[in-house]
Amino acid sequence: MKTSFEQQEGKITFSFERDASDDSRIKEMSYSMSDEDIFFYIPENLEEIHPDLIGLATILLCNPFVSEKLQLPAPTSRRFFEMASSVISRYEIIEEVDDSISPIDVNEEGFPGLCFSGGADSAAALSVMPGRTIPIFLNRPLRKGSLYDSSAPLAICKLLESSGYNMQIIESNLEYIRIPTGFPTDLANAIPAILLSQHLNLDSIAFGTVLESGYGIGHEKFVDYKNGSHYRFYNTMFNSVGIKMSLPTLGISEVGTAIMGMISPIASISQSCIRGKWKRPCGKCWKCFRKSLLSLAINEETDYSEIETMLWSSEVQIRLSAFPISHENVVSYSVQRINLDEMETLKPVASKLNLQQDLSFLERWYSDSIEFVPDRYRNFIRNRIIENIDPVNYEDIQSIKGWDMSPHLVSEKTIRANDRLINYWQNLQ
Ligand SMILES: [Zn+2]
Repeated sequence: MKTSFEQQEGKITFSFERDASDDSRIKEMSYSMSDEDIFFYIPENLEEIHPDLIGLATILLCNPFVSEKLQLPAPTSRRFFEMASSVISRYEIIEEVDDSISPIDVNEEGFPGLCFSGGADSAAALSVMPGRTIPIFLNRPLRKGSLYDSSAPLAICKLLESSGYNMQIIESNLEYIRIPTGFPTDLANAIPAILLSQHLNLDSIAFGTVLESGYGIGHEKFVDYKNGSHYRFYNTMFNSVGIKMSLPTLGISEVGTAIMGMISPIASISQSCIRGKWKRPCGKCWKCFRKSLLSLAINEETDYSEIETMLWSSEVQIRLSAFPISHENVVSYSVQRINLDEMETLKPVASKLNLQQDLSFLERWYSDSIEFVPDRYRNFIRNRIIENIDPVNYEDIQSIKGWDMSPHLVSEKTIRANDRLINYWQNLQ
C-alpha cells in the first residue's frame, strides 16, 4: 500500500493506494476499506507536522488493510522506523529513513491529553486526571442515513470548555475508511491527539479504557494486559513518537465509572448513547439498556417501565441473546441488585446468567493498574480514584485474576436457558 499526505492551512488529508495483495487480503476480512481520502480539520496556525507523527497516524489508519508492504507518506527518523518495524510483523514498512530528522523526545514539561468521547468511561478518566488535562474529541461528520448524532458529546464539550478546559474538537471522517463505518484500529481515536501533540505540547495521551476491555473481565477469561500483544504494540508505537500512553481507568469497571458518575461532577457530565440528543438518550440501543439497568441497580432512580420498554428493542434482544453477552459481568451485577418480582420480563434473561457469583469487586479499583499511568501522574490519579472508590482487597484480586466464564458457558443449564430466551422472544413477535 502506498500512502500520501498533504497539509494545507486548516486541513490535512491522507490518501491510500492499494495494490493487488492488499485487495486480496481485504476480500478475506469481515470488513472492508473504502476509497475515501481521510481528512482532519486542524487549527489554521499549525506548524508543519513531524513526519514521525504522520507515519504513526498513517499506520493507525490503514494497518488492518496492508498485506505485504507499506510505504509511508514521507521519510521518518531512524528511531521511529526501527521501533515501528519491531512491533509490526505481518507486513514490512518500506525503509525510507532520513537521518537528519531527529526523533521526538517526551516533553517533560508537557500536558496530559485525553481522547474524550463524551461517554461515562472517558468522563471518569477526565475526572481523575489533573485539571490541566487537554480533552480531545474526534467529531465524525454527520451523514444521511446514519443513526449517529453528535449533539450530546458536543454539548458536553461546550460544558467542559466553559468550566476551563482547553477542549479540542477535531473533525475527521476517519471512521469512514472502514466499511462498515468504525475505527480501523482500536486506538485510532487518538489520531487527532497524535497529529496535534507537538502543537499542544502533550507528554501523554490517555484513554478511558475500563477493566472489562483491558483485563477481559466479563469476557471469557482474564487477560494479562501488561504482557499481551495489544499493549506491546500501542505502547511501543506511542513511545516511538515521544508520547506516553496513559490508562487511568484500566483498573475500574463500568460499575465503578457509573458510581463515579454519581459522586464526581466531571464524571457525571457524560452520555454514552451516540444516537440521542443531550440528556435525551435514544432508549433503544444496547448502551442505553446497559446504562439504565446499571443505574437501576446502583441508585434505583431509573423507572422499571423504562427497562421493560427497552427489552422490546430488537437490538437489545440480539445483544442479550449473545453467548456470552458483551460485558455480561455488568449485566449480572445489575440483575443481582434488581427485584425480579417487579420485572417479570427480565426473568428469562436472568436465568442464563451466573447470579451466584459475588461481583461486588466491580465496585472497587484494581490498583495494580496504576502502572499504566505515567510516573509523574501516578500519585495524583491514585489519590483522586480512592476519593471516589475503594481499592480492591485480597479476595477481589483473586476474583479478577481468576476470572473464567467457561464453566458457566459450557453448562447445560446455561445453554438451555439461552435457547429458552431466544424462543421466548420469537413467540412474543
Ligand atoms: Zn441509546
